[in-house]
Amino acid sequence: MDSEHSQYGTLYLSATPIGNLEDMTYRSVRILSEVDLIAAEDTRHTRKLLAHYDIHTRLTSYHEHNKLAKGPELIGYLLSGKNLVCVSDAGLPGIADPGSHLAQLAIEAGIRVVPLPGANAALSALICSGLDTTMFTFIGFLPKTGKKRMELLEQIRYRKDTLIFYEAPHHLQQTLQELVNILGEGRKAAAARELTKHYEEFRRDRLGGLCAWYREHEPRGEFVLIVEGDTGAAGAAKDMLPQDPVEIYEAFLSRNVEKKEAMRQAAKQLGISRRDVYRILLEKESGK
Ligand code: SAM
Repeated sequence: MDSEHSQYGTLYLSATPIGNLEDMTYRSVRILSEVDLIAAEDTRHTRKLLAHYDIHTRLTSYHEHNKLAKGPELIGYLLSGKNLVCVSDAGLPGIADPGSHLAQLAIEAGIRVVPLPGANAALSALICSGLDTTMFTFIGFLPKTGKKRMELLEQIRYRKDTLIFYEAPHHLQQTLQELVNILGEGRKAAAARELTKHYEEFRRDRLGGLCAWYREHEPRGEFVLIVEGDTGAAGAAKDMLPQDPVEIYEAFLSRNVEKKEAMRQAAKQLGISRRDVYRILLEKESGK
């Protein structure tokens, strides 16, 4: 049991709306009005929310790029007995957003950390996806490119629980294509778009169907992707993957994976040695 000191202030982590401003709880609104300071990811963004609820608490910025300097400063403020709410631009702080580092610092310092629950894109999408909600894995944003992205996709390929991804509209098509390549086109999936907003939409299909749809229809707005876990038809998914080492190698290169690593991944995927992949590539190059 951590010891918390009653003379210190409390750090609240509050959810904020992911679109619809009505998705604030009465408790969050009250506590935001009562605390001494609000640490916000983007003060201009949060100011609009505060204006909507007629909240006049002082704001300061706390984000990914100033957290190392700002975190200890905010902890000092809490240690002096002041209460503080940390919010991100949308949803729960700490979920694909700043907040967890501050919570860790506060816990280490013996400061009470209290959640103010509310909107969250991942769970809102999951509960309306029609897919299994008993066990799930939150992936959030995949690493942007290269080796780490491939390693993570390989790592989750045979997981049986439902998978939850965040994705920006301009990367959605590419991500769907990679999910089809690695997980197979047959898995059930749902794309949840613009949750709680005017153009909210759920598209429930197979991964292949979603991929084809967004190839034809430019993705717009914010998206959560929910993907069924491995149902044991993994063999089938594997069979749909390319079997040509050159094709696999080139697919990795197109995702900015280095040559050596691309060869290693192609070899791994096909269960052959890297030397064999290298030999096949040389043969192709020399036109054999
Ligand atoms: N902290 C947030 C939460 O608790 O959901 C997530 C913030 S993360 C920086 C932003 C990503 O969350 C978006 O790119 C999108 O994938 C997802 N997201 C946020 N709001 C959304 C919405 N209204 N509809 C669909 N996805 C949303």
